[in-house]
Amino acid sequence: KPIIELKHTSKVYDNGTVGLKDINLTINQGEFVVIVGLSGAGKSTLLRSINRLHDITEGDILIDGKSITKAKGKNLRLIRRDIGMIFQSFNLVKRSSVLRNVLTGRVAYYPTWKTTFNLFTKEDKQKAYEALQQVGLAEKVYARADELSGGQQQRVAIARVLAQNPKIILADEPTASLDPRTSERVLNDLRMLNEKYGMTVVANLHSVELAKEFGNRVIGIRAGEVVYDGKMSETPESV
Ligand code: ADP
Ligand code: ADP
Repeated sequence: KPIIELKHTSKVYDNGTVGLKDINLTINQGEFVVIVGLSGAGKSTLLRSINRLHDITEGDILIDGKSITKAKGKNLRLIRRDIGMIFQSFNLVKRSSVLRNVLTGRVAYYPTWKTTFNLFTKEDKQKAYEALQQVGLAEKVYARADELSGGQQQRVAIARVLAQNPKIILADEPTASLDPRTSERVLNDLRMLNEKYGMTVVANLHSVELAKEFGNRVIGIRAGEVVYDGKMSETPESV
């Protein structure tokens, strides 16, 4: 079942730079897709377009059958609730506790005017704690986020996404600032969300090695175009 569909999608930045060129792509529910390509190829533009962190200039993007391209207000919020984001720089609130950071994943379930931390319910806190258990950080609930190692901070970000419970996870270079061993752990946790919770994962990775190891499907991007789309076992050495 298609969960993300790009139809003739192009993105040209205000300064004229072409980010994406006429992309046609279908990602099905439950896939673990890895996007590879050189720096500047358009990987991050692709992820930002799917979540509509910026508007595309042509075409249409459907999330679980609904167009996000021109969605507004409540409709846009409901579509975005189904999309979780993981960033290279973790994007945690550094001075807040691990628990509070994970709780922000629940914000998607409250109207915007209500998102004060004190309004989170016992159930929200339970979900946040369970999410931390799933990534092996239950003993860190009350630690300050910036006291944790980089790998641990990224796993807090993964717990935050788990607490959000989206259908789709977009991970933009989730391991770029981590060493190889820590990178594997982070990717294993993403794989866990995919296998155990059925979340569809789309991850940009710099490393073709990691792409082969973790992606069931590898998509190669060059100059804003899809130049490769296939099984990991068949991935060519360079894309
Ligand atoms: P990747 O994630 O593969 O490294 P990007 O999607 O970041 O590639 O960039 C694709 C192209 O778009 C590059 O040429 C980049 O310089 C350009 N680009 C990215 N963001 C912007 C922006 N905000 N304004 C103008 N050009 C941009
Ligand atoms: P450090 O980097 O300070 O050594 P770690 O993050 O490696 O700390 O490990 C802290 C605890 O979490 C360990 O007990 C480890 O076994 C566990 N752990 C590490 N990575 C994961 C993971 N991906 N999923 C579940 N538990 C993990």
